[in-house]
Amino acid sequence: MQTRKLGPTDIDVSLICLGTMTWGQQNTEHQAFEQLDLATAEGINFIDAAEMYPVPPKAETQGLTETYLGNWLARRGRRDDLVIASKVAGPGNGLTYLRNGPRLTRQHIREACEASLKRLKTDYIDLYQVHWPDRSTNFFGQLGYRHNTAEQSTPIEETLGALSELVQEGKIRHIGLSNETPWGTMEYLRLAGEKGWPRVVSIQNPYNLLNRSFEVGLAEIAHREQVGLLAYSPLAFGMLSGKYQGGQRPEGARMTLFSRFSRYSGARGELATQAYVDLAKEHGLTPAELALAYVNSRDFLTSNIIGATSLDQLRENIGSARVELSEEVLKSVETLHADFTYPCP
Ligand code: NAP
Repeated sequence: MQTRKLGPTDIDVSLICLGTMTWGQQNTEHQAFEQLDLATAEGINFIDAAEMYPVPPKAETQGLTETYLGNWLARRGRRDDLVIASKVAGPGNGLTYLRNGPRLTRQHIREACEASLKRLKTDYIDLYQVHWPDRSTNFFGQLGYRHNTAEQSTPIEETLGALSELVQEGKIRHIGLSNETPWGTMEYLRLAGEKGWPRVVSIQNPYNLLNRSFEVGLAEIAHREQVGLLAYSPLAFGMLSGKYQGGQRPEGARMTLFSRFSRYSGARGELATQAYVDLAKEHGLTPAELALAYVNSRDFLTSNIIGATSLDQLRENIGSARVELSEEVLKSVETLHADFTYPCP
């Protein structure tokens, strides 16, 4: 398994990172253990969790994903071989069961981190990420930026200051962002420089053939500031595997089970997906291989966070690390991208 450096740190992370957000909802603890055993045997050393997982978020399941991961870590030992990432939630509708509604204040961040450490049964988290901003801006597919001057958001300075304390105390090793914008990312970096606090080392945003919006403002930052992309939803919730084409809803699959996951399944998404499915078939690739190998091939990418609900999916997705796309395929992808630009932002 290829590795890449996590930002300017000396940490090598596997090109494929194991996503976990189905554990505790679509996957049992036993299945989570099987996924972890297989992934680590295949050379994956990077695992991404969050205090909020599994999804869809619910009071009764919150924290189960980290608990399963912690139980596996305790059983396996050799904690230092692995790079464990987790996240603190920002404010969100329906999350009142998490600290009466999560905010990115000093107190919330400290409480969240302590609880994650306990569930993960570890003394430190390698990469602690801000799951989404504590201000209204464009993330989770929001279009049409509207500025709100009356908003009571937590200053980034307070958030970064709190995270910086956790680094000093050894509870977290590095800080990452998620669902951030170019302005937010540069603001974290500016404050780090001004205050002598740790710099953020990664940005975890959506990136897949149906949503390449990362390239507009953030890809340049990834290179120039050493804040590489941790790409999430590389299969657009499974859409890019082609299994939902023609309105199909396979039994037990995410978009069949949960109507809230509609970001990638509109008419434009289906049309663009069909074009990529056809391209994959023309070149003897599975649609998932094409979609994942494309993400793997980007030079602003640090790691591709895959998700799977079965071991067969997991094998196929990890296998994408061995697929090299030809110049011809890459050129065709760009032609399709010009026709279907950001069908599902
Ligand atoms: P994804 O690759 O877009 O979707 C993964 C889902 O697609 C699987 O759970 C599975 O669902 C289906 N699938 C996977 N491989 C397949 C294959 N080979 N053939 C057919 N179907 C396949 O990724 P994601 O789950 O949305 O995200 C991956 C990880 O990124 C998460 O676990 C999490 O760690 C992270 N993430 C972070 C954020 C954030 O806000 N920071 C948001 C989303 C995700 P079914 O079996 O149900 O179809």
